[in-house]
This record gives sequence, structure tokens and C-alpha cells, in this order.
Amino acid sequence: SPMERCASEDGKPAFALPARLYGAQRPNSEGLDPAVAEHRERLFAAWRQVAVPRVPEASAGEASAAARRAAEAFDAWNHRPVAERAAVLRRAADAMQAQLPPLCALLVAEARKTWPDAIAEVREAIDFLRYYATEAERLLAPVELPGPTGERNTLRLHGRGAWVCISPWNFPLAIFTGQVAAALVTGNTVLAKPAEQTPAIAREAVRLLHAAGVPAEVLQLLHGPGETVGAALVAEPAVAGVVFTGSTPVAKAIQRALAAKDGPIVPLIAETGGVNAMLVDSSALPEQVADAVVQSAFRSAGQRCSALRLLCVHESIADGVIEMVRGAAQALVVGDPTDLATDVGPLIDAEAFDGVARHLARLRTTARALLPEGEDATTHTVAPQLFEIRHVAEASQEIFGPVLQVLRWRGDPKDVIAQVNALGYGLTLGLQTRIDSRALALAAQARAGNVYVNRNTIGAVVGVQPFGGEGLSGTGPKAGGPHYLPRFCAEQTLTINTTAAGG
Ligand code: NAD
Repeated sequence: SPMERCASEDGKPAFALPARLYGAQRPNSEGLDPAVAEHRERLFAAWRQVAVPRVPEASAGEASAAARRAAEAFDAWNHRPVAERAAVLRRAADAMQAQLPPLCALLVAEARKTWPDAIAEVREAIDFLRYYATEAERLLAPVELPGPTGERNTLRLHGRGAWVCISPWNFPLAIFTGQVAAALVTGNTVLAKPAEQTPAIAREAVRLLHAAGVPAEVLQLLHGPGETVGAALVAEPAVAGVVFTGSTPVAKAIQRALAAKDGPIVPLIAETGGVNAMLVDSSALPEQVADAVVQSAFRSAGQRCSALRLLCVHESIADGVIEMVRGAAQALVVGDPTDLATDVGPLIDAEAFDGVARHLARLRTTARALLPEGEDATTHTVAPQLFEIRHVAEASQEIFGPVLQVLRWRGDPKDVIAQVNALGYGLTLGLQTRIDSRALALAAQARAGNVYVNRNTIGAVVGVQPFGGEGLSGTGPKAGGPHYLPRFCAEQTLTINTTAAGG
């Protein structure tokens, strides 16, 4: 029988629990523009009511039964006109928009997001729904291909079958919704396995999609640990594809598991971690650099795959840049995510905190610490940390927290990019230079999916800056871009001899 588990009681510190809030009792709206004050009041009204519900974990038998149901439901869903499936996504987007305050409150309570991060995430989920609806209508329309006389050639895309969607806790609504929406709108059925840390927000997204018209058997939600429930779903014979966002080692484990299965070759779309660098040359503006660095490295407590991990600054301006980054980092407010003044909230849980703490212990012996220690094992907060290292290769591991490594370079910037490329990741890269030709040349040399010039590195706007990497950072295609949906599709060409009798 399914095990009951309370998502809000697993070692989370006091301020994740609504009963113990201090900052969130009042939105502190005195003296604000009335419209802003009203917006805050709505968010906080939702917050006062939020409860993180218990979710049942799926058993092995339930995972198998769900996979069979998903395979059986495929034909009917796939044969629906794409416009109908797109309309379902748009209805879900409208519902999410209408539910913005309670969804934000749940993100703050369950995923420990700050309010600004929560609002941005709900908007991103809505953007995914609308963008993929429009993209699917364009993409799934049959295309007439030019060919020889006497023949008619048509190309069309359709779904592949039942997809397993496995998502991480750090964007538990946006990434979850994006994966599921992409699979559904292209005609696939879905077995969704959200991160075990954030099941409740996934449940809300599924509730809204079902209410918008996705049949229950077309979208099934299975909770539980990745090593058991996630792995069981991947191993199911009826699975037609897997889309995964999370850590690099887990992506590789899934790839091995798929390769070991009998039957068809099953595609994997994997978006994984990165060690993201920013190169600063001597022409850069230190104030602009410091602002971009602090945003990129410390916002969301560094718990973004796109976050800046390695700052490579030319030695001629290094002292000034480092001083500004130190000052700006120390001015950030660290603590209760429900307090509107907070810049850096807590890490997701004790395990994440311990992982970051281990890296900090290592860095404190191998590198030069440039900011005071600031870990709190009770609240799982980590104050921004800055370490000076000597070689790019020392930053070979992704540290999923507000920890930045800085390195002084001299000589040819191409050598720095080559060393960053050699780390093997390929997600985001920042370039800070006022020499346009250099920015273009370095961007062309870089193995990075998203390159940002003279700004922060954490934007990933749906349809505008499609997001995803290469190498250890994933398989591509980019989420929120024009090449994403085709990977969820099978293609069929239909060639008809139009000269045959009766044609
Ligand atoms: P994770 O790899 O631990 O878990 C991700 C998901 O995989 C969870 O749902 C988990 O339950 C499941 N899982 C774990 N083991 C599994 C297995 N053996 N088989 C099947 N499923 C399994 O990652 P996380 O800690 O949730 O997320 C943080 C990581 O995600 C970071 O490395 C971050 O860089 C990466 N990330 C990447 C992107 C991107 O777009 N490239 C976006 C967000 C996060």
C-alpha cells in the first residue's frame, strides 16, 4: 500500500512551516503604492492559508499499472487534433494565472523560494504552457514537400507514446510544467515523477491540467524517490521516451538503464548541471560586473543550474572587482524566505546543506576565503561565499549553493575559455568586455549553450532565451526554444503515387 509522507516535516527548519513564521505575518505594505500594497496583501492572504499536503508514494505495482494505462491511452490522445491539445494547455495557463497567489505561497512554503523567485517561477510555467501550445500548432501541421510530378509527399509529426518526465526541486513548478506540457501537446501521454522534495506543487499543476481537460490516464503523477519510483518508471517496457532535468550522474544512470532494456531504442532528453563561468577583461566596467556577478552567483541562494560558479577576472582590474563583489555580497539579506526583504533564502533541505558544507570545508583548506563564514545548520542558510583559486581546473564540480570561486588571469582570454571548455560542462557563460569583436569571438569559441554578454547569466526567458547546454550539461534541445518539441515527436512521410488508377 502507498506510504504516506509529509513533505513539510522532513528536517525542514522552523521558518518553512507556516505556524512559525515571523516575517510573513504582515506584508509590511505601509507607505507603498496602493496597487503594490494590494498585490502584497493578496500574496500574504494566500500565504496565511497555505498548507503543504501529504502525498502518497507510488508502489512498484502502481508504477507498472500506470505505465500500461499510459500506453493504452496514447492512440486516442495522439489522434486528437493538435488545436484541442493546445487549447487545453491555454486553459491550464489561464487557471495558473488566476491561481498565482496560492501557487506562489505553496512555492514559498514547500520549495523555500523567496517571493520574487516564486512569482517569476509561476510566470515561467505559464509561459511554457502558452509557448508550447503555439509551437505545437505550427509544428504538427502537415507539410507538403516539393517532389517529382505524379507524386505527393507530406511530412507530419505526431506523438511517440508514453513519456516519463522526471524533474528537479529547484524549479518544481516551471520545469515540471514545461516537460509535461511539451510531451502532452505533441500527442504523448505522461508519467510524471517530480522531485521528492517538492511533490505538492507538482500535484497542483497536475490538478490544473486535469481540470483544463487532460484525461486522468493521459497525465499520471507518481510520487517517490528517484532511485525507486523514478528508476522503476524508466525501466517500464511501455516507455517511449524520457525527459529528465537534474544532476549529471542521474542523467547518465538513466541513459545506462535505457540502453540495457530490451525492445526499442528509447530517446532521452537530459538537462543537467554546469560549472558556469564569467570572463571579465580589462575593458569591463567594474560596477556592471559586480552587479551581474552578485545576481548570477547568489540569487536563489545559488540553487539554479545557470548560476555563476567561477569568475575569471583580468588581473589589472581584479582587486577592484573583487572588492565590489565582496561589498555587494555582504549587503545581501540572508534568511527567512517569507520576509520580503530577503535576498538569499535557505537551501532546500539538510542534505543539500550538508553537500554545500562539505565543499566549503574543502575550499577552506585549498583556496583563500574572501568572505566570512556564514552557515546555519538549523535554518540551512548559507551566506554568500567567495574563494580565490589559482586554476580553472580547481572548479571542476558543481556546488549547488551561494558559493563563488574567483580567479585572476592574464594573457590571452582565449586560453581561459579553452580551460573552461575543458571542464566538460557547457551550460551558461558570461562575458564582460567592451570590445564587441572579442565578445563574439569568445562566444564562438565557448562550448556553452547560453552566452550572456555584459549582463547576468541567469535569464532563461521562454521563447526568447531558450535554455540548455551540451557536454556534461545535457543532450539538448533547448527548453522554451523552437527545437524542443520535435524531439518529443515521431515523424512520418506519406508518399502517394497520384498517377495510379483511382488516385
Ligand atoms: P537529482 O538528479 O538529484 O534529481 C532530479 C530528479 O531525478 C528527481 O526527481 C529525482 O527523484 C530523480 N532521480 C534520482 N535518481 C534517479 C534514478 N536513478 N532514476 C530516475 N530518476 C531519478 O537533481 P536535483 O538535486 O533534484 O536538482 C539539482 C540538479 O539539477 C543540479 O545539478 C542542477 O544543475 C540541475 N538542473 C539543471 C537544469 C537545466 O535546465 N540544465 C535545471 C534545473 C536543475
